[in-house]
Amino acid sequence: MFLEDLFLLGVRVVKDQEVKILSNIQVSERYWHMVVDASGLASDVEPGQFFYIDCGQENESFLRRPFSVYRINQDDQTLEFLYLTKGLGTQALTKLKQGETVRSFGPLGQGFSLQEDAQKILLLARGVGIATLAALAQEASKKGVQCAAILSARSHNDLLAAEMLQGFGAEVHKVTEEDGTSDVENVRDIIEDITARHNIDAAYTCGSRRLSRLLQDITSKKDIPAEIALEEHMGCAMGVCYACVCDVVEDDEIRTVRVCLEGPVFPLQKVMMQP
Ligand SMILES: Cc1cc2nc3c(=O)[nH]c(=O)nc-3n(C[C@H](O)[C@H](O)[C@H](O)COP(=O)(O)OP(=O)(O)OC[C@H]3O[C@@H](n4cnc5c(N)ncnc54)[C@H](O)[C@@H]3O)c2cc1C
Repeated sequence: MFLEDLFLLGVRVVKDQEVKILSNIQVSERYWHMVVDASGLASDVEPGQFFYIDCGQENESFLRRPFSVYRINQDDQTLEFLYLTKGLGTQALTKLKQGETVRSFGPLGQGFSLQEDAQKILLLARGVGIATLAALAQEASKKGVQCAAILSARSHNDLLAAEMLQGFGAEVHKVTEEDGTSDVENVRDIIEDITARHNIDAAYTCGSRRLSRLLQDITSKKDIPAEIALEEHMGCAMGVCYACVCDVVEDDEIRTVRVCLEGPVFPLQKVMMQP
């Protein structure tokens, strides 16, 4: 078996390769954090892109699982992933130990766009959606772009990355079911407050259709460019099987696009949000 396979997806060279696990630890009741050696990647990784990872679930299912890059550490050439344990794949992933390797295909998909002249951005994450938006906060901090983030979760235990975002200088608002603060109207009030105090150049969301519809509503009224990272069940992750399609509206026409190839990041206003 080959240890590395190279693929040309569009104009990008993508590698399917064994990467070394530097750590893989439980960080809360339901979440794990994995760091891998990224020194052998074929191309740079952008916030919003993802890797298609063989979780080692052996005979149970041959499908890999998609995971967004959570942190990109260029200096020490590592990548971090934050994952929620859900079913067979993610449970098998927790069994992999430091020093072992994991087969990983990527970086895949289209990442977020962060305009050079942006000064302040808004992030709206629900649950594990923060795993996708955190790398954007990291990039924003590097470019001197200020960030306001609303993190929504079931409980305080699930509010991950808040301290990391604060470390990047972000203004962080936490809402939870536990506190009774995560309802849409309260989140609307927080967004209205942030947009009244700051000139928001762009907004980004991941993790909740309900909150994405809210952000779609507010950003269209205020004419703020916005993007969403979508999650759909994937088959091949390279645009062949059409398992991960969703509908977008372009020039008044509905177009079916693949989350793995044309996404996972899309302009929020174009995405047809199912109830
Ligand atoms: C582009 C992208 C980025 C993602 N990034 C992250 C991340 O950073 N951290 C994280 O915890 N999760 C992320 N997810 C969701 C993650 O891929 C699923 O939670 C995971 O595949 C579940 O696998 P499982 O075997 O544990 O669960 P199961 O429920 O047993 O999975 C069964 C099947 O459904 C698919 N599936 C289940 N839920 C999802 C889902 N939400 N999205 C896509 N496929 C799903 C699996 O691939 C599998 O084929 C991402 C999904 C996408 C599409």
